[in-house]
Amino acid sequence: MIKNIKSIFLLLTILFIICVSIKNNSVYAQKLNDSNLSKDSIIDSIESTYNKKELEKNYINKVRANLKGEVKDSEYYFIQGYIDYSIHDYKSAIKNFELAKKDIKNSKDTFLKVYNYILLNNCLLEEGKSENLITNAKKAITYIKEDKSYKNNSNVVWEVIFPLSYNAKTKDESIKLLKSYIEETSNLDIETKMALRGNLAIIYTMDRKYGKAIYNYLDVINLAKKHPNIDKAGVYEAKAYTFIGNIVYELGLHKEAIDWYDMAINIKIPNKLNNAEAKVNTYINQMHAYLSIGDYDKCSDVVNETKKYIKYLDKNEQDDVEILLNYNIANINIHKGNYEEAKKYIKKGSELLKEDKVEYFIHKDIFLGLSYASILKEEGNYKEALDIYNKILKLKNEGAKYIEIDIYSDIAEIYSKIGDLESYKKYNEILKEKKESLDEIIKNDYIEYSIKAYENEVLKEKEKNEQIKVLIMTCIVVILIIILIARIVRVKALKKLHYQDSMTGLYNRRYLDDYEQRNIKKLEEKEISIVLLDIDYFKKYNDNYGHIEGDKVIKEVSNSVLMNIRKKGIGIRFGGEEIVIILEDTSENEAIEIVEKIQKDIKNKAIEHKYSLVNDIVTTSIGIYTKKKNMKEDIYLAIDKADKALYESKNNGRNRYSIYN
Ligand code: GH3
Ligand code: MG
Ligand code: MG
Repeated sequence: MIKNIKSIFLLLTILFIICVSIKNNSVYAQKLNDSNLSKDSIIDSIESTYNKKELEKNYINKVRANLKGEVKDSEYYFIQGYIDYSIHDYKSAIKNFELAKKDIKNSKDTFLKVYNYILLNNCLLEEGKSENLITNAKKAITYIKEDKSYKNNSNVVWEVIFPLSYNAKTKDESIKLLKSYIEETSNLDIETKMALRGNLAIIYTMDRKYGKAIYNYLDVINLAKKHPNIDKAGVYEAKAYTFIGNIVYELGLHKEAIDWYDMAINIKIPNKLNNAEAKVNTYINQMHAYLSIGDYDKCSDVVNETKKYIKYLDKNEQDDVEILLNYNIANINIHKGNYEEAKKYIKKGSELLKEDKVEYFIHKDIFLGLSYASILKEEGNYKEALDIYNKILKLKNEGAKYIEIDIYSDIAEIYSKIGDLESYKKYNEILKEKKESLDEIIKNDYIEYSIKAYENEVLKEKEKNEQIKVLIMTCIVVILIIILIARIVRVKALKKLHYQDSMTGLYNRRYLDDYEQRNIKKLEEKEISIVLLDIDYFKKYNDNYGHIEGDKVIKEVSNSVLMNIRKKGIGIRFGGEEIVIILEDTSENEAIEIVEKIQKDIKNKAIEHKYSLVNDIVTTSIGIYTKKKNMKEDIYLAIDKADKALYESKNNGRNRYSIYN
């Protein structure tokens, strides 16, 4: 099964929002005007074409020539800096933007005042410098607040905050800055508040502070419900539901995530384009959740629903959605084991990707690559799969960071399959570390929220009439429940690890001890066959081929056992190379059938063992004991009887099974 796309959709939608908000910024598409080259008109020109970073060479030359005789004031340096920035000369841009700071206070142009700091920060980040980022951001925010037409432009505020929230050194401060902007700016529009609360939630989500993220999304939902007349209330509300769904999904609660997505889908959005964007955004995630719970039909339904909305989307968005649909159909096929069919859709997606000029959903190449790698893995093309995984890990961008855990888990699985014990151990270790740190983050989030919930309880007492506080309190309870459930899910997963033998995937001895405790009734009432398997002349194998090769044999034998008992039995690694199989509701004859299949399977693998005294390939000896119905017996006693039968197999020449009598 593929697991590696688990967290990617969370990221996908986050980046979708970011891209859309940046897109909205560049709606002005005027031509650069080079008939009037006064500083003011150049700055106007920059403002009106902002985000089309590529300036024409011709235009640059004219501007630079024209600036030669000009007074070197803020405007002069800002224009110089902007040109440097547009041609990616960040060092020089930094110098110019710094010089522009000097008497920037006196400038009347808010665009210049704000963007001098935004662009300066962008350049500093490009150069890997983080000293003055926050001071600069604060300046930009001050100038935004001073200008009525800027104050409620959530996109500009986001442009100040977002780059800093990506940077580890400035993340916390940028969160504080955004929070205080939302809470302390006077006369902020409700719509701006909704947009910025949503953005704050995005930062928290990226930081895996899920409690805080959900809290802010719920606040967006509250605001939207209280102000249904605001134009885009539905858009923000739907997004908030979808993103909570994504978090819930990330926490492993796939069914619950589907419910949140349904809430998003139920929101009515009058504007056709907005509605289509919201629906597609939700559906793409919901498809994935259906895939995870194995409901392929529902997943296909959602694919078809999504197709209905494509025509309402912007042209540049349409192909992105097509690519993602191909990717999803590929995944349905991977889950069903139709690898050839899956490859076709990946290929279709990749072809569309080549034509994709404007990216709304980014990192689509990573998704397609991961799907392809998972097919290669399933087909046993381990080397090629590893190549793709390593390439993705090397990208070192957010896209790769988010799916690291899943990729490492797949890499470890591959190394275990090819029997490279050293690499397996190495990647398992990395995986364990990453999982632990994630667990730690979620735990801290939970603790913080318990405290917050308590504080709010106190607040509630003091301000009984403030309904919103009650609402928030309710929200926090929801969050606590979600997080608690997620913890339980995780504990369950850990328990599974606790019982698992990491080398073979069989259960370990610990499981056997607990099995006895938990199945006292079954052990008495049911007919149970116990099988004990031991590899023949295995010591000789180790002595001659080495321990690592020996381990591979144990894994192969274990695989044969697992493949042939499937859901019917429980396979336990009993000792080094001894395996116990517990077959509930299985008669002696049925047990014999299974045992014959296992031995045949191992024989067919024809693993060379020149030093065995019974054959030139690896063979096994087996003992079978069947406990009758309604007969109480200790499990270890039963195994002991199977062991006696095994002893008989060994004595009678090995490579056979015997039945206890
Ligand atoms: P027999 O046919 O009588 O079973 O002969 P044998 O050599 O297999 O004897 P026995 O079952 O007593 O030997 C068990 C050997 O299995 C001893 C040890 O070298 C090897 N062994 C036990 N655990 C492991 C392990 O985890 N990895 C490897 N490679 N070898 C193991
Ligand atoms: Mg043995
Ligand atoms: Mg042996």
